[in-house]
Amino acid sequence: MSGLRVADLGAAYGQAAALDGISLTAAPGEVVALLGRNGAGKSTTLKAVIGLVRVTAGTIALDGAAIGRLAPHERARLGVGYVPEERRIFAELTVAENLEVGRQPPRAGAPAWDEARIWRLFPPLAELRRRAGGRLSGGEQQMLAVARTLMGNPRLLLLDEPSEGIAPILVAAMAEAVRSLRAEGLTILLSEQNLRFAARVADRAYVLSQGRIAAEGAMAELLADRDALGRHLSTGP
Ligand code: ATP
Repeated sequence: MSGLRVADLGAAYGQAAALDGISLTAAPGEVVALLGRNGAGKSTTLKAVIGLVRVTAGTIALDGAAIGRLAPHERARLGVGYVPEERRIFAELTVAENLEVGRQPPRAGAPAWDEARIWRLFPPLAELRRRAGGRLSGGEQQMLAVARTLMGNPRLLLLDEPSEGIAPILVAAMAEAVRSLRAEGLTILLSEQNLRFAARVADRAYVLSQGRIAAEGAMAELLADRDALGRHLSTGP
């Protein structure tokens, strides 16, 4: 199967289990959201796919090839792009220099990125190309973090909370960018607390609760069952 296939995934921090039997798929040209309250396991699922947490069970395949035992940099080389929640852009480098850091050779079966295409995807960044990363707003930094990862020409893009802490106008631009990446055939798996953002971009979603999948389905169907969704997403008891 092309795209991402995760089966029966378990993961742990030390002795503490964080994921227990997560199975999910994401196809090329599909945006899949991981929903759930704080601590449900969304970030851990993304970290397991790129290889940053200890996986205790299960398999991870990208376009049919098992990647679950590879080091993170080997997965990146095979086309897994990961944008962490904390963004990790280089504050001292300019926007253009940050993009250069992410540049990788073109890869068969994935769109090839250069600066000109990045400016078309994120017009606000084009005007800031000579500005230091540390002087960007939260939303501009988030765009830059996604843009830098795209310069690696990924087939699979993992986005941890792409709409978090960014101004509403840039949330709209981010949603627009995610939709155009989907149109290019990227496989996109993102974690999201912001249901409105997820509703705008996601085709399907998995609702996580305590390291397990509590619900899954087409985003529109999940949204139609607000009661069930609310039970898993509300932060209060
Ligand atoms: P959030 O939006 O708060 O990040 P999340 O759904 O992404 O929530 P995770 O960060 O994946 O949740 O956390 C899943 C579980 O793993 C939680 O119980 C959390 O406390 C635990 N956990 C996460 N990171 C670590 C870590 N570095 N060390 C130990 N436990 C961790």
